[in-house]
Amino acid sequence: MTFTTYSGAVEKRGAMDCQQSLSSDASPNDPDTDFDLDGDTLREECGVFGIFGHPEAAAITALGLHALQHRGQEAAGIVTFDGHRFHSERRLGLVGDAFSRREVIERLPGSAAVGHTRYSTTGGTILRNVQPLFAELHAGGFAVAHNGNLTNGLTLRRELVGRGALMQSTSDTEAILHLVAQSRRGRFIERYIEALRAIEGAYALVSLTNKKLVGARDPRGIRPLVLGELDGCPILASETCALDIIGAKYVRDIEPGEVIVFHRKDDVIQTEIHKPFPPMPPRPCIFEYIYFSRPDSIVAGRSVYEVRKAFGAQLARESHVDVDVVVPVPDSGVPAALGYSRFSGVPYELGIIRNHYVGRTFIQPAQSVRELGVRMKHSANRAAIAGKRIILIDDSLVRGTTSRKIVRMMRDAGATEVHFRLASPPIIHPDYYGIDLPDRNGLLAATHSLEEMREMIGADSLAFLSIDGMYRAMGEPGRDPANPKYADHCFTGAYPTSLTDHTDIEPQPHQLSLLAEAS
Ligand code: SF4
Repeated sequence: MTFTTYSGAVEKRGAMDCQQSLSSDASPNDPDTDFDLDGDTLREECGVFGIFGHPEAAAITALGLHALQHRGQEAAGIVTFDGHRFHSERRLGLVGDAFSRREVIERLPGSAAVGHTRYSTTGGTILRNVQPLFAELHAGGFAVAHNGNLTNGLTLRRELVGRGALMQSTSDTEAILHLVAQSRRGRFIERYIEALRAIEGAYALVSLTNKKLVGARDPRGIRPLVLGELDGCPILASETCALDIIGAKYVRDIEPGEVIVFHRKDDVIQTEIHKPFPPMPPRPCIFEYIYFSRPDSIVAGRSVYEVRKAFGAQLARESHVDVDVVVPVPDSGVPAALGYSRFSGVPYELGIIRNHYVGRTFIQPAQSVRELGVRMKHSANRAAIAGKRIILIDDSLVRGTTSRKIVRMMRDAGATEVHFRLASPPIIHPDYYGIDLPDRNGLLAATHSLEEMREMIGADSLAFLSIDGMYRAMGEPGRDPANPKYADHCFTGAYPTSLTDHTDIEPQPHQLSLLAEAS
């Protein structure tokens, strides 16, 4: 595939000095992430974005990251290349706080950019971990933004440090920079592919050199990456919602194991595709449909919104009880509740109103204030639920603490029966691919029976979507254990890659670095 020429100036190879402006004075803000006061929601991994050949590369990347904000709210960064120099801005906090200011975008000139919005999964929330990470290689600058988590990141790090690598961050992503730097191959892309062959786990990578924009997806396609086009310029993004915000056209999903390279030749943007891995059955993460992706995104050709509605309809098929209204836990339970209501014929009501303007500013560590916090963020809509038997629908259950509070809130508001339904199966295994799930001891469903969970949550009945039902809602006959179509291991324990860091006989440290640093 060749993209039409962007009429702006051709980038010239220039001096590779990196003009970074890494702000250390940006204050962490208080993102309104969710009603998660007890670590009781899943945290998305990260969002990545890249564009090549557009005169407004930094501004477009900022907008793309803004659309991907739900994938990570702790920090964001953009690296651009202007034909001579790289420029970098990396900030703690929300995308809009740092990158909506004109003076920040003006410090990011160039027609090629990569960006990242982060929720830390490996490595802490400190500025030096904020991506894109950047390094000076022999052949020039190299920036990388990573969505996912390497399951051999600690092992690689130990080996690299043993060979003399000086690690700057505590992020597993930095191993990729060092692997590329240490490769003895000639061409950049050969070095890059050699690095990919050494890493295991889940990754959607967007990288920038002085000549190329490179995208790569892990061989199983666990984390998503899509290709778009704006004014003839290629775009890589975690989700299609990042294309919609800028009016870009969706071209296709990057395939599992695919490495895609954009560069200029004779003022025309050329595309190079590499498939360095033996083909293997894809296993995209099913949680992109359950929770992570935005409902208006299309993931692997499917509308996330429609899939969530199908999960809700299947839930109604499997575990309906006679009630008066169906109520979603906002926002994540809304599409599933719509699907449930439509299938069951029970009216849908907004029995919980979410206040979108409450941030962590108000959340204090004292337990009594935490309890107050839930009511600040979610209020019962008495008019919709008083005197009624309700079915509450949420997307998933992690620790159960928030569910218990919401059930109590419904009863306090006059609901006569509260039946709790989850539009996904019980989560009973930890994630190693970039999702901030607790270990087994912190997962309610891993340590309690269904009846124990019902009692703890305080619901009249409790039911989860079955595994086979989840697959049926995706159009499959059920889950084929010999060839599951999705990464579903938080429900099944069937991990699709090696877990070197977690199975090595020699115990691995849980943190990458012992350097404590203020964030
Ligand atoms: S454990 Fe697997 S299926 Fe579950 S969220 Fe993580 S990558 Fe997705």
